[in-house]
Amino acid sequence: MNRRWKSKKSAWVAFIYMVGSKTRKTEVNAMITQEKINGILEGYGKDLKIATLCSHTALQIFYGARQEKIKTIGICTKERMKLYESFPLAKPDEFIVVDDPKEIPADELVARNAVLVPHGSLVEYFGKKLENLAVPILGNRNSLLWERDREKMFEWMKNAGLQIPKTFKPEEIDRPCMVKFSGARGGRGYIIVNSQEELDSRVPDQTGITIQEYLIGIRVYPHYFYSPLSRHGYRAGEGKVELMSMDRRVESNIDEAYRLWAVGLTSKPAFTIVGNEPFVIRESLLTGVMEMGKGVVESADRLFGGIPGPFCIEMICDENLQLSAFEISARIVAGTNLYPGSSPYSVYTHGPGMSTGRRIATELKQAAKEKKLAKIVF
Ligand code: AMP
Repeated sequence: MNRRWKSKKSAWVAFIYMVGSKTRKTEVNAMITQEKINGILEGYGKDLKIATLCSHTALQIFYGARQEKIKTIGICTKERMKLYESFPLAKPDEFIVVDDPKEIPADELVARNAVLVPHGSLVEYFGKKLENLAVPILGNRNSLLWERDREKMFEWMKNAGLQIPKTFKPEEIDRPCMVKFSGARGGRGYIIVNSQEELDSRVPDQTGITIQEYLIGIRVYPHYFYSPLSRHGYRAGEGKVELMSMDRRVESNIDEAYRLWAVGLTSKPAFTIVGNEPFVIRESLLTGVMEMGKGVVESADRLFGGIPGPFCIEMICDENLQLSAFEISARIVAGTNLYPGSSPYSVYTHGPGMSTGRRIATELKQAAKEKKLAKIVF
């Protein structure tokens, strides 16, 4: 690449980046434009539906939409329909049956005026394909790209002013470190190593790995909701950040390691997420939790045009009550499934009966009414 082209290219990247903070286009790639999505939304008129893949938090999303009288569409394989049909209050109004859950029926969704709600399984299955998907997606699809790339996520967390774990090159390992593999999510396959020798012997192919300091303390997963539509609440960016609920994950087999010791067994720790349990934090720590949420919202504004809707910061609280973050999920997380009614936090904002799934529906309704869908859907 010659230097002239190089400098032209960086000027172009800088231009797109600047425009990005207003229009949510951050990079030179083939991502669909906000204008195109706005065009699709205009064609929808008033009759909006909520669609998602039948997995992860779909029951909560469908149930919440039903409470708000919004019709729902479940993208589902034939085998899974039986399961979703067995929950009469949480099954979708309509199924779009797919052979492969990795295919999104874009045209069928648009023909039905659907806004797609992304969740963990959807993001994992569709990955990069979400960039070009010609279907309105709740939130900012750019945030899903920043979530998927660990380097970008760390840049985001730093920009948000969060305390984060140290990261190491293999030759720098001088303490227990967690090794995370490229693309791996949900803790699957993560290992702990104490030295470069141990890393080399246990991980022959080190392509794309991340080596993080193992943070000591109590895990806390607060679930936030950012609304740019209202400032009545904990102010963040042009709107407010709400604390919807909190959970703690249950991971196999680290979380019941004490049982192994008790029966005289040993095993290498593993961190595969199996489920979630409820959690509330000391009330005096809530200011820190809210400020971290606000920081993530405002840095998302600066870096890639915002993060409307639900998100989660995965954090650890140490014995000095210092909160550190090790990951952001830029969408609804499975821990919210604990609270299809109320949580010990949402009840103080909304009264009884407000889940994150329902909050998505109320936000879409408000945005549609105020003709501000482009603020929360991309
Ligand atoms: P993640 O895929 O980053 O959400 O991590 C899965 C699980 O691994 C978390 O729920 C934690 O239990 C654990 N974990 C991840 N990163 C760290 C870290 N830096 N220190 C301690 N535990 C971690």
